[in-house]
Amino acid sequence: MGQEGEESKPPRRLVQELRWDPILGEWVMVSNLREARPWRPRSGCPFCPGAPETGYGWDVLVLDNKFPMLVQDPPEPTRHSFYRVAPARGKCLVVVESPRHDAGDLDELGANQVYKVMKTIQSLVEKYKEEEWAIYLLYFRNKGEEIGVSLTHPHAQVYVTPFIPSKILRELENSRRYYEKNSECLFCRILRVEESDKVRVVYSSRRWLAFIPFFAHWPFEVHIYPRRHVQLFTEVSDEELEDLASVLVKVLCGLNRVFNKPMPHMMVLHQAPLKGRHEDYHLHFEIYGAYRVSGRLKYAAGMEMGGGNFTYDSTPEQAAHMLRASLQKKCIS
Ligand SMILES: [Zn+2]
Ligand SMILES: [Zn+2]
Ligand SMILES: [Zn+2]
Repeated sequence: MGQEGEESKPPRRLVQELRWDPILGEWVMVSNLREARPWRPRSGCPFCPGAPETGYGWDVLVLDNKFPMLVQDPPEPTRHSFYRVAPARGKCLVVVESPRHDAGDLDELGANQVYKVMKTIQSLVEKYKEEEWAIYLLYFRNKGEEIGVSLTHPHAQVYVTPFIPSKILRELENSRRYYEKNSECLFCRILRVEESDKVRVVYSSRRWLAFIPFFAHWPFEVHIYPRRHVQLFTEVSDEELEDLASVLVKVLCGLNRVFNKPMPHMMVLHQAPLKGRHEDYHLHFEIYGAYRVSGRLKYAAGMEMGGGNFTYDSTPEQAAHMLRASLQKKCIS
């Protein structure tokens, strides 16, 4: 302290590592790559055809993330006498979902294009499950300026991690416990219960069911389950994938039209880890639509972030009713 500003700054050593939170028992991914290697943004969209990394002649393109949290050849982690660290070994990818810059959300891309995107995700799962260090593949997309997405060109992300993400770990543990006690899959049971309750079902197709679960956390939280009990995305058949593409298009179309502005949301695929057997698990998609039924933005704030429990200031039944109406009226041709 008391030194010139310049000298009191920590040295710009590249730190890219996993730090273990011993209290919550989970990993934090730490990287100062952005600081250590300043990047001058080029003018123009980095995902459009003809940009330095994209080239031409593609429908769906997989790119390396420019500022990856995880890399295949990570630096040596910080040594610490108390805290546990691990190398940030992994892969962070960007999946450009269309060559068209203004294509909008997946629902506007149409089912054929969404099918191609899903095929791409499937091939990434196929590829990385062969990598010895790869333990999990998380496919997710963030949509909407309200939740900090600055690049509008349609894209998703994939993180291949050397650990099982905390939320997946919790799901695996609870579904295993449920299976041991009841000799049935927890997700298969939820699928049957939601289908018979009907009030929270948003869309039902031959091979998938989309609903806002009884226990939804986010106002418009849609879960999409395959009717068949499968664990890994590579086990999803071509017919199921085609059906999924059309279900995703309908559900996102409904979400983007509940209010007269697109719904900010996150979408994630929860599948089994890439290693080991997880037969009591059941893959599914989760979409977290962030507008409340009033149309105002829901924030994860003190209770949610500080306590870990969500507050839901309407009912999932009411949200499902609104979403179903929007989908039926505006998305079924
Ligand atoms: Zn673009
Ligand atoms: Zn199941
Ligand atoms: Zn889940």
